Amino acid sequence: MHLNVFVSNACFIYCKGCYSYSREEKPNCILSSNKILDFLKYAHDKGINKVTICGGDPLIRNDIIELLESIKSYGYSISLDTIGTPLIGDVIVNGKMICKKIDPQKLATLVDMIGIPIDGSTNEIINKFRPISYNYIKSVKLICKELNKFNAHICINTVVHKGNLKDAKELATLITNIGNIDKWQFFQFAPLGKFGFLNRKMFEISTEKFNEFRDNILNNIDNDRIKLNFKKSTNRIKSYMLIDNSGNAWIPAFENIKNQYDESRNRLIIGNITNHDDWDKICEYVTNN
Ligand code: SF4
Repeated sequence: MHLNVFVSNACFIYCKGCYSYSREEKPNCILSSNKILDFLKYAHDKGINKVTICGGDPLIRNDIIELLESIKSYGYSISLDTIGTPLIGDVIVNGKMICKKIDPQKLATLVDMIGIPIDGSTNEIINKFRPISYNYIKSVKLICKELNKFNAHICINTVVHKGNLKDAKELATLITNIGNIDKWQFFQFAPLGKFGFLNRKMFEISTEKFNEFRDNILNNIDNDRIKLNFKKSTNRIKSYMLIDNSGNAWIPAFENIKNQYDESRNRLIIGNITNHDDWDKICEYVTNN
């Protein structure tokens, strides 16, 4: 079972099918770095050595570099999911500084796999899932170029949904030519998180359609170096322990997806990392599953 920690509840974009739970937990609360680090240090001593840092977007967090430095110093292999915008400049929205530029070299040194989403070969297709007001593809190309300069490991994450099913061939061409990509993961859209659940009718596809998309990618990708990973909704059952911004550590009840439940309401909460007494059972659950 993989450990995922939500370190931010804000994002640079707000996707219609957002599968993050951080946008519906206590809205203005994020876990302090001390709480995250105390728990992660303990968890590493208990044998957990991989963690995914997610959000929202982790790079929006003011102290993200210091947080990553500490997590790395404990010996973790770190994956981080981000849109990546601050890697190419300050992020300013309506004249307000949202986030200062982050040094791509620093991030490349600290993070073992940087995950960046692309779900379409054109900005129009991407816009079906992620409401963007800028040239997203150009921005991702620049981000990958910056990260490639420092030999960062990059993983492209693609949500396969109703709006991009016919785009496999063009998407394969785009990713083949985008730069040095180590891994490309495909996720069958699942109605996760508040918005993913609310907007599920716009995005849901059958496993057969997902497999068709997979075959089209396999027939059109021209790059042996990229490791491909296709994740059906059913493959993800009991694969993740999520620590959200209220500190709750829980397992998404993926088996309820087929019954059309919002499984975030039906989740299995193992404990809360702000409560030291819960740490053992949280760590045991991760290591035993
Ligand atoms: S899906 Fe990811 S990028 Fe989109 S709003 Fe949610 S956290 Fe942000």
